[in-house]
Formats: sequence, C-alpha cells, structure tokens
Amino acid sequence: METTAAPPRDSLLGIERNQIEPVLPILTLLAGLTAFFLERNGAPAALLAGLYGLAYLAGGAFGLLDGLKTLAKRQVDIDLLMILAALGAAAIGRPAEGVTLLFLFSLSGALEGYAMDRSRKAISKLLDLRPPTARVRRGAEWLDVAVEELRLADRVQVRPGERFPIDGRILNGESHVDQAAITGESLPVYRTTGDNVFAGTVNGNGSLEVEVTHLAQDTTLARIVKMVEEAQGRKAKTQRRLDVFEQYYSAFIIGATVLLVAIPTLILGHEFHPTFYRAMTWMVVASPCALVISTPASILSAIANGARRGVLFKGGAHLEAVATIKVIAFDKTGTLTTGQPGLTHVQTCCELSEAELLRLAAAAERRSEHHLARAVVERAEADGLKIPEAEDFEALPGLGVAARVEGRALLIGNPRLFRERGLTPPPEMQATLETLQAEGRTVMLVYGGDNWLGLLAVEDTLRPEAVATVEALHRRGIKLVMLTGDNERVAGHMARLAGVDEFHADLMPEDKVRLLEDLRKKYGPIAMVGDGVNDAPALAAADVGIAMGGAGTDVALETADVVLMADNLMHLNHTLGLAKRAQQVVWQNLAFSMAVILVLMITTFAIDLPLPLGVVGHEGSTVIVVLNGLRLLGYKSA
Ligand code: ADP
Ligand code: MG
Repeated sequence: METTAAPPRDSLLGIERNQIEPVLPILTLLAGLTAFFLERNGAPAALLAGLYGLAYLAGGAFGLLDGLKTLAKRQVDIDLLMILAALGAAAIGRPAEGVTLLFLFSLSGALEGYAMDRSRKAISKLLDLRPPTARVRRGAEWLDVAVEELRLADRVQVRPGERFPIDGRILNGESHVDQAAITGESLPVYRTTGDNVFAGTVNGNGSLEVEVTHLAQDTTLARIVKMVEEAQGRKAKTQRRLDVFEQYYSAFIIGATVLLVAIPTLILGHEFHPTFYRAMTWMVVASPCALVISTPASILSAIANGARRGVLFKGGAHLEAVATIKVIAFDKTGTLTTGQPGLTHVQTCCELSEAELLRLAAAAERRSEHHLARAVVERAEADGLKIPEAEDFEALPGLGVAARVEGRALLIGNPRLFRERGLTPPPEMQATLETLQAEGRTVMLVYGGDNWLGLLAVEDTLRPEAVATVEALHRRGIKLVMLTGDNERVAGHMARLAGVDEFHADLMPEDKVRLLEDLRKKYGPIAMVGDGVNDAPALAAADVGIAMGGAGTDVALETADVVLMADNLMHLNHTLGLAKRAQQVVWQNLAFSMAVILVLMITTFAIDLPLPLGVVGHEGSTVIVVLNGLRLLGYKSA
C-alpha cells in the first residue's frame, strides 16, 4: 500500500506554505485590479506589464511549483494546465482574464488547503487534550514536570476534574473516568486500584495516584493520532484510480487544445485570436480539478469523524470496503458476549473436593489468556485458594489447555478436546454437561492424566447492547452470523438471544477462516468482528477485520483494519453508517464535478463562454466538492 507520510506542504522563500497561501490571491487581485484601471487611463505599457507580471507571479507561484514538480516526473497535471491557460490569455493580449483565472485558482487552492488541513488536524488536536505537565513524585517531593520527562513506573498524582497526562495504572484511589477522548463514549466508567487509565481522558471526582506504564510518545492517544495520520496518507482505491486518470486526462487535454487551435486555423481558415481564446477556455473548464479532489476531501473527513468517535479506520481503502459489506460474522465470546463470564458450577466427580479441583484448574488456566480462563482464576483467587505453579503449559486453541500441576497431567477443555483423544466422560458427568449446555453455559471438563476430576461451568452474558446492535444492523440489510468454538447448544442459545440470522458452532480457528470464505461466496463481502486476541487469522481473512475494545489491547490495534476503541458493539452501527455516507458523498462529488465539466465544455462552444465565467464555474465546483466532503466531519449515525 502506498503511503505518503506528510501532506505536500512546502515553503516559499523560507515561509510555510499555508501561511503565504491565503495572502497570494489578495496580492493577485490587488495587482490585477490596479493594472486593469491604469490600463483604461492610458498608463505606460512598462508599468502595466510589471503589474500584470506581479499578479501572474503571485497567483501562479504554487501552481507553477506543483506543475513543474510533476513535470520533472515526466507527467502533466492540472496545475500546469492552469498556468498554460493563463499564459495563453496573456499571449493574445488578454492579461486581465489570465489574472482572473490565477486569482480564482489560487483562492480555491488556499481554501482547499485550509479545508483539508481542518480534516487532518481534527485528529492531531486530540494531543492538545493532554496536559503539558504532570505532578510526579520525586523522592519525598511532588514536582511538576513536562510529560515528555516522565519515566516508566513514576508515580503521578491526578486530582479531581483533571485530565490524565499519561497512560498508567491506578495505585490508589477510585474515580469515574470520562474516556470520550479515546473511546468516543462520554458515559464515565468506574476505575479503581489496578485499572488502566489513558492520557487525555478526564478524571471524575476522585483523587488518584497513577503509576506510569507508557512513555509520552507511546500512549494510546499518541498512537491513535499517529495511526490516523498514516491512515489519511494512505490512498483509497477510488483515489488511486483518479490519480492515474488525471495523468492521462491532462495529457489528453493538452493534445486536444493544440488540435482545437490547429485544425480551425490551419485547415478551416478561422481567425486565430477567437479560436485560440476558445481553446484556452475549453482547456480550463475541461480540467478535472474538482474530480481529483472529490475523493480525498471526503475520505479525510470521514476518517477524522470516526477517530473522534472511537472508530479507527486504518486507511481510506478500508473505509470504502466497509461500505460494501453484506454480511458480518461475529465471534461469540468477548464480542457478542461480555467476555467476563462468571463461574457458576464446580462439580467434582471422584476423588477431589471442589476447592481442590478449582485450585488445580486455576493453576493451569492462570497461564491462558482466554476469557474462560480468567473466570476460573478469578474465582479461585476470590475463594482465597493458594494456586500452585503449572509446568509444561500448552494452549490448545479452540479446545482448551494442557499443563502439569503437582504431578498431574491436566487437560481442561471442551468435549471435543476429549473426543479427539478418545476419552469419554462417565455417564452422570455427560448428563450434567448436557443439562448445563442447554441452559447456555459453557462447560469445561477436567481430566487428571489417568482419571476424570470433574467439570466447571461458566455463564457468559450477552452484551447489553447486543440486541439493539443486531436490530440496527438488520435495518441496514446486513446478514449477521455468529461463529464460535463453543458447543452447538450454547451457541444456539446465545444466537437466539442476540437475534442473529445464523450460527456455526464447534469451530476450530481454521474452520472460522474457511467459513468466512463460504459466507463470502454466499452473501458477498464479509466483515469479521472479534476481540483481536484469539481471532487474528479470521480478522485477517475477512474483507474487513474489525476489532473491539482497542483501548485495552495492543494486539487489536495491530491486527485489524478497523478498530472500535470502546468496548461497545453499537459503534459498529456508526462504522457502517459513516462508511456508507462517505461513499455517497464521494459519488455525489464525482457526479457533480463531471456534470459541471460537461456543461462547461459544451457551453464553451455553444455560447462562446467567456474565460472568466468558465473559471468561476470550474474553481467554484472545486470548492463546493471540498466543502461537501467536509460535511462528513459532523456525521452522526441515526
Ligand atoms: P469463541 O469462538 O467462543 O471465542 P474459542 O475458539 O476461543 O471460542 O474457544 C472455543 C472453545 O474452546 C471454548 O468454548 C472452550 O470450550 C474451549 N477453550 C478454549 N480455551 C480454553 C481454556 N483456556 N480453558 C478451557 N477451555 C477452553
Ligand atoms: Mg474469542
């Protein structure tokens, strides 16, 4: 994928481009008007030439610069066309019209630059949210230091109502934190000792002491800003096609203009001046300025809109891909469900007590990062059990875990894990298993190396917003499918509760990838929504991989095409709505700019359109297209 790190903002005579760009049109206008009036009052030709020259220079400087840069790559672009047209007007004694062209050209250039900068900066402004200094403990004292000077494990104090200066973990205190800057959700969340907090978010009414976990340049906020800037530099497909189109089309225009002058004058014997004038006008109105800017103007704004609401698109191409999605596949655990399952049953079958069973299971599960594992460990800790060390730990994705604890070769996992090893649980255990599964509980069987130890059951609840999200996505006409490694009965239970159209259970990670392929063949482009931890292959295999809860995990930020920073499924609705709207705006812009070009080209010949009017239409449509794209900054999903 092509990446242009920084936008093309250069400087002239050592001054930044966006500082002089707004001044140039004014200079052009003043010099041009003065020359125009002096000309009427019979001023000397040398003075007029000087003034018009100045106007041309001011109005054409950046166009010439850009045009020459492209020419150096043996290509032609629109900037060059504009300069040629202005020079052409001067050549046939119409410098005032050339100045009009350059004035409007530089004016719309400045406006464009301003509008595009606004979209770009909508994001980097987020960094201003972070306070410049932090109150940090050094020895026995509290000092104010610049956030850049904070070191890992420093202790920082954050008072009520302040913004967090850095990412960290709460050492003591409790508070409600408004994380809107990161997640787009303004509903404050309760945070206490051990929880993570993010730079740029707002502390509620508690006073907190926070241990620094990330340096200033590595905070989640800083990474979001960097990622979005990179995303905005990556071109959408439509834009890459337009870039190629601009090349050929500009060359075509130059060729056509030459013919428009040569054929009538040389062959048909028409007068030179009016023919040349008309060809210049045609060259201006035929130029695809509006067409070329139509896509980036919209995509930049849409990406900025998403980032401010906690939806990160990793590039314009992904935004375009989301707009075409026909089916969404959800992972179950941690995506449709909260992923914070509670342990509901600890049942021994034979030799051990329940506490013993839990203690051994927790030892093995402590090494796993799975949601289910956390439920087991948390319960064991809450019960005050002393969890032993596990050896030879092995995660069996989609099945369970294996580990050696106190001499026993433990196997913990779903029935499939045991079926594959030819192990059948005793009849009464099998009966309990089926009853629990029918109630929607995920059951883990525990085997101790040469005998059965018992079973554990957890209950995971549907996310509170799951049903509303499913309804909202159905209204958009999207097919919804649940994919899970869990058992058929549990999956069916959850699928019915959530209201998804289909579910597929008992899937191994590679089955999920294969199923995505089948679903794509059946319904069309597919998105996979997962929590990013154990769904990386599926996220990569889908047309669009969407990770949830990016504020917590680094993996999600890295693997997905789109990241929902908040742990809220409903943001999917905004993601889809925004992508669709962006697509509409891009098409509106393309259609509008092509229509304007066509109408102006025809009128040039039909009614001998004067050059200044042609320029107004041409530059006006460019500005309208940019402003239309800017509207996306304010888009809200219904
Ligand atoms: P999901 O698609 O629901 O996220 P996974 O593919 O992550 O499920 O896991 C599928 C099944 O494998 C789980 O339902 C569980 O039965 C079993 N499993 C996975 N990891 C573990 C573990 N650490 N401990 C016990 N069982 C596990
Ligand atoms: Mg999962």
